[in-house]
Amino acid sequence: MSTGDVLGDAVHNVAYTYGVEEPRLIIRTGGQLRRTDEVLIDSVPGSNLSSSGVASHFSEGRAEIVVVVGRDPLDALLVTLHEMAHIIVPPLRDSLGRVRAHTQAFYHVAGEIYAVYEIPMGYSIWRESYNSKSSARIIKQRYAACSSGAA
Ligand SMILES: [Zn+2]
Repeated sequence: MSTGDVLGDAVHNVAYTYGVEEPRLIIRTGGQLRRTDEVLIDSVPGSNLSSSGVASHFSEGRAEIVVVVGRDPLDALLVTLHEMAHIIVPPLRDSLGRVRAHTQAFYHVAGEIYAVYEIPMGYSIWRESYNSKSSARIIKQRYAACSSGAA
């Protein structure tokens, strides 16, 4: 299967599992992601192995994920799963109007999805450390829950 097929299957299956409408998946092989108020960008700076992604929720119409695929297929899958977790756990806006996307609730879902898709735990933790320093504890819990069959 091509990387695009793998990512498309992952989006389809995760949406089905979590009961959310399947977002449109747009895969790009280069270029920059645009940062807007509604857009979340997740990337490792300075690496052409890594992928980056954006999940957009629209007030009308279907949600959308854009993934700019780097050279590492595992990283592309992790980014796609990360963006699916944003679809499942939409960002919150706090009382000051700041967007909080990488919340504990977000990592509860993201960690579970990474475990199910057998992303190596150390890689998940390292990758998410760019977004959230406190994510490691929740990710470890979710891997442990999934491996004991308690998920
Ligand atoms: Zn994110």
